[in-house]
Amino acid sequence: MNQTRDQFGRVIDYLRISVTDRCNLRCIYCMPSRGDSPTDHGNLLTYEEIARVSRVAARLGVAKVRITGGEPLTRHDIPSLVELLSRIDGIEDISLTTNGFFLKRLAASLARAGLKRVNISLDSLRSGRYKEITRGGEIHDVLDGIFESERAGLLPLKINMVPMRGINDDEIDDFAYLTMNTHLHVRFIEFMPIGAKDLWSRDRYISSGEIRESVSKIAPLIPVKVRRSGPARYFRFEGAAGVIGFISPVTHHFCGSCNRLRLTCEGRIRPCLFSETEIDLRPALRYGAPDEEIERLLRLAVQIKPERHLIHPEGYAGNLKPMSKIGG
Ligand code: SAM
Repeated sequence: MNQTRDQFGRVIDYLRISVTDRCNLRCIYCMPSRGDSPTDHGNLLTYEEIARVSRVAARLGVAKVRITGGEPLTRHDIPSLVELLSRIDGIEDISLTTNGFFLKRLAASLARAGLKRVNISLDSLRSGRYKEITRGGEIHDVLDGIFESERAGLLPLKINMVPMRGINDDEIDDFAYLTMNTHLHVRFIEFMPIGAKDLWSRDRYISSGEIRESVSKIAPLIPVKVRRSGPARYFRFEGAAGVIGFISPVTHHFCGSCNRLRLTCEGRIRPCLFSETEIDLRPALRYGAPDEEIERLLRLAVQIKPERHLIHPEGYAGNLKPMSKIGG
């Protein structure tokens, strides 16, 4: 199999594909209350264009893709994109990051189309608070989506929670307890200094170290190895069915092992989440360029991938687009 390395020796084998910057929710830490002005539909890559980029990326050694957004399941007929991707030689793993809202309806058809796993973002287990954080979401829709995904075999089911001081940090232990009797992978992600400016502050940010300290007061955490763990470090309580992961983009950046490129919904390749440098593939896709040109642009993106990001808890990175615009 082909392998492509960047100038720091990292093998690039993972493409995160944003299919939309629209979302049915407006999480207070991610989006402004009235939403961001979404891109015109005509600017979005079509599924055929996304599949073409993925096919060329697979020739360079990309074996894993993740579909994200915005909320990917707000885009029409995502299972048909999954099916297109699943037919590409070399793509071995297709996953999706979602708020879970539409999974009740779509989990089975996504699994049939070739989706392997889902990550579900959930920042509160309390319905009133969930509604506040998401500005209107109903938690029972997400819980139904979780059950349906499990039934469809989209396993392991990963729940991503962003603890924020004064907002939901009193639920860290409740989330950890979930792993005692379920097979869930509960992952705590550090609140990053990007997105909705009014909410970010140094005081709201909680380091993975502090989260872990709180969780380990419940019972000792035993380190475990998890397949395809990516940047998460995993632990479990003794005898627990599920596992607990910590993802620390701020305190322990994992740039040294970063294997990703991102494709924005408008067709730009972004080599690093925290750098605004992007390479626009859309003109090449829309004006008849051959695959060799797409390949050249992808290789260029790999070569300009920065060694590491420079975000830190002391500074809000106001110049960076929110996750919903890049593809989280
Ligand atoms: N709509 C999908 C979802 O809810 O998972 C995918 C897109 S969403 C932007 C992807 C992830 O980005 C979510 O898990 C969300 O919690 C995370 N996110 C957004 N802004 C963040 C921030 N400032 N810090 C940490 N995580 C953030």
